[in-house]
Amino acid sequence: MSNQPKIPGTTDVPQWIADLPKLELHVHLEGSMSVATVSALTDLHSVDPSGVWPDGFPDRFSFSGFPDFAAQFFYGLSLLRTGEDLATITEDLATTLAGQNVRYAEITTTAYTHFMARDDRPGMSPTEYRDGLNEGRRRAAALGVDIGWVIDIPRDIEMPGSTVTIDYLESAHTPDGLVAIGLGGYEVGFPAAPYADDFARAIALGLKSVPHAGETEGADSVRSAVEDLKADRIGHGVRCLEDPELVDQLVDRGIMLEVCPTSNDLLQVIETMDDHALPALREAGLRVCLNTDDPGWFDTDLNTEFAIASEQLGVSEADHLAMLHDAVTASFAPDSVKASLTNELTNYPVSN
Ligand SMILES: [Zn+2]
Repeated sequence: MSNQPKIPGTTDVPQWIADLPKLELHVHLEGSMSVATVSALTDLHSVDPSGVWPDGFPDRFSFSGFPDFAAQFFYGLSLLRTGEDLATITEDLATTLAGQNVRYAEITTTAYTHFMARDDRPGMSPTEYRDGLNEGRRRAAALGVDIGWVIDIPRDIEMPGSTVTIDYLESAHTPDGLVAIGLGGYEVGFPAAPYADDFARAIALGLKSVPHAGETEGADSVRSAVEDLKADRIGHGVRCLEDPELVDQLVDRGIMLEVCPTSNDLLQVIETMDDHALPALREAGLRVCLNTDDPGWFDTDLNTEFAIASEQLGVSEADHLAMLHDAVTASFAPDSVKASLTNELTNYPVSN
């Protein structure tokens, strides 16, 4: 048993971490909704939540594993019906990011799930989706948070050959600040290789490749993300350690792993936080950065992830700074944002 709190929101965050200028490279817009936001949108759109929560809204979300998480996540997704809903949750996320001194975030959003018809409602139009994201990004900038968008293919929903997402990415209706294509969803039974053509088309547009891999599947999934999808970074990737040859390849190519400790804990990728691979990944010389994944659903934030890394995973203040500098380098932020963050980090004091 871990002797650390299971609910990450209760972790004490040192002031050094709270004040630290930060960036986040792996956070899902649709995963950022808190219980309060889901409740408010349920009321706004007059939806009955009893099919998901027969006893009413929980005080906190909890999950028995990835499929259970997915069921609740899709309920939340079904509440995002207008561009204004998207702008609102982007602004909500940016408000929490600004409160943690996060200056820049690459936020993943899943266009496909908004375009799908749902129940008796048609899907959102590509222009409404774009306009909602653009409006949210403008509001975030006013809060001091620059956003780069990642639009991902949900591998367990959008089957290979559908081309909805890649056709959209090639259209004239994509949001400002689009930087990358991702691959999300449940890995088990949904391999990456069939999406190689979609990723090749996205890369031809100038987009970067940031698939999830090595979260609920093993090292072969990470290898496929690198070889078939030409990954620039890997979402999670923690199970790459199962294959030392692959680790060498990731180190040689400098491919960063976007590590999300609380997500791995709550989705039972690991048994307890004490088992987390972060120390071993760093020991192996891999590039890693810390992220929240789905902060609303997991009731976490980036400060909490940093505190967990400090308290349980052997990350010192100097290590945090080095990882942040590395994350700046591995980000797809504009040069001006990179320079500003680098300057702030270089001048940030270290006490240990
Ligand atoms: Zn993710």
